Amino acid sequence: MYSAGHRPAADAGAASEAAGQVRLADRVVPIAAVREHPERYTSLFGRARSEVGHAVCLCRTDQLVRLVIRCRAGRYHLANWPAGGQQHAPGCPWFRSPSAMSGRSAYAEAITVGEDGTSIRLSTPLTVRGATAAPSDTPAPPAASAGSVTTARRAMGLLALLHYLWESAQLNVWHPRDGRRSWRDCRELLNEQAGDCRVNRLELADALWVVPAFQRAQAERINAAWERFLGRLANFGKVRRRGLVLGELRAVEATDYGVRIRLAHQRAPLFASAQLMDRVRRSYPSAFGAQATQDGRRQVALCLVERSRRGYPTVVDLAAMLTTSSYLPADSSYEAAMADALAAAGRAFHKPLHYDGTEVFPDFVLVDVDPETYVEVWGVRGRESYEMRKRAKQSFYRESGRTLLEWDVREPMPVLARS
Ligand SMILES: [Zn+2]
Repeated sequence: MYSAGHRPAADAGAASEAAGQVRLADRVVPIAAVREHPERYTSLFGRARSEVGHAVCLCRTDQLVRLVIRCRAGRYHLANWPAGGQQHAPGCPWFRSPSAMSGRSAYAEAITVGEDGTSIRLSTPLTVRGATAAPSDTPAPPAASAGSVTTARRAMGLLALLHYLWESAQLNVWHPRDGRRSWRDCRELLNEQAGDCRVNRLELADALWVVPAFQRAQAERINAAWERFLGRLANFGKVRRRGLVLGELRAVEATDYGVRIRLAHQRAPLFASAQLMDRVRRSYPSAFGAQATQDGRRQVALCLVERSRRGYPTVVDLAAMLTTSSYLPADSSYEAAMADALAAAGRAFHKPLHYDGTEVFPDFVLVDVDPETYVEVWGVRGRESYEMRKRAKQSFYRESGRTLLEWDVREPMPVLARS
C-alpha cells in the first residue's frame, strides 16, 4: 500500500519556502509545534487521517512528500513514509539517508514497519531463561571484502541497532542550519524514535535508557527514573530481564572485580568484566583508539545490561561508536576531522552508516550540490584489508560516476567550501 517515489536524495535547490511546515487536512502548521505539542492538534490529526489519510511535508517545492499519521495510546504523531525519508529535502526533520547508502538495507527482515510503528528483531534476547548468561558475541569488525553480496539478516546485533537509532534520529545528517548538537538534543531525537519502536516485542521506550543530560535541579528525579529502570531488570527465578543503556562513555576504570564504566551525565556507573572490555576494545578499534578521546571526540555506547546477583547493573555486551563533538559518527579519527571540517565549511552532508555489514559506502555524502558529491578519507595504509577495501571503493566510485572529493591524510585537507 505504500509507494515511495524513486527520486534520488533531494537536492538543495529544491528546498522550499514552506520548509519547516506540514499540512494537516486543510491547515498548514509548523513542524516544531506539532512535534512538541501533538496533543494540541488531536482533532486536526484525526481529521487529516480520516479525510486525507496522511499528512504532507512542505519541505520541497517540486513535490509534496507524504507523512504517515500514527496514533498510539490516543497520542498522534507523524512518521516517515516507509522508505520515504530520502524524498525530503536535506535539513527537513524527516530527511533520511537513502537506504542504498545505509547498512539498513541488509536488515529488511529484521525491521518491520507497520501502522503502529516499527518492530525490530534483536539477535540478543532481552529476556533470558536459565541459570547462566551466555554472553552474546560482539560481531567482529566488518571485514574488508570487495564486492560483498548483501544478504538479508534476520536479526540485528547491538551495533546495527545503535546505527539504526542514530540514523532514524537523523544524527548522521548535518545541516548548517542546525548548529552544534548537544547530548540533550540527541537524547530528545533518540527518545522520539524509541517511542515508535518495539524490540523483540517489548516497547523500546521501556527497555532502553538513554542517559538524560545532567541538570542539577533534576538530579533526584533522574535518579528515581534510573532506579525504576533498574527495577524492571529484576530476576524472577531463572528468568532475567535485560535492558539497553545508551550513553557517552566517560571512563573505564579497573576495579578488583573487573571494570567500572562511567557514562557522561550519569552518576551511577555500570560494571563489566575485564574480559568483556578487552573483547569490546578489539571489536571497535576506532572507538577505543589512541586518538578517540582527543580533540573533543566522543565514544557513544549501546550497552546490554542485566543485574548481577547482588543487584549491580552489569554490562553483558556493548557496541561502541566514535563521534565528533557534535555526535556525528565517524569510522576513524581522520573521518572525525573531516566531519568537523565539513561542518566548519558550512556544508550539508550525511554519513552513511554500515551497521555491522561489509557493504561499501562513501565516507560522507555532500547533499548541498547536485548531483551529490562523495567524500573519501584515505587514511591508514599498508594493511592488506585496508588496501582491499580501498580498491573496492575505487571501483564503486568509477561505477557510480559521482564526483569524488578525496583527502589523503598525508596531505593537507582539500578546500571544502562550496564553490
Ligand atoms: Zn520534509
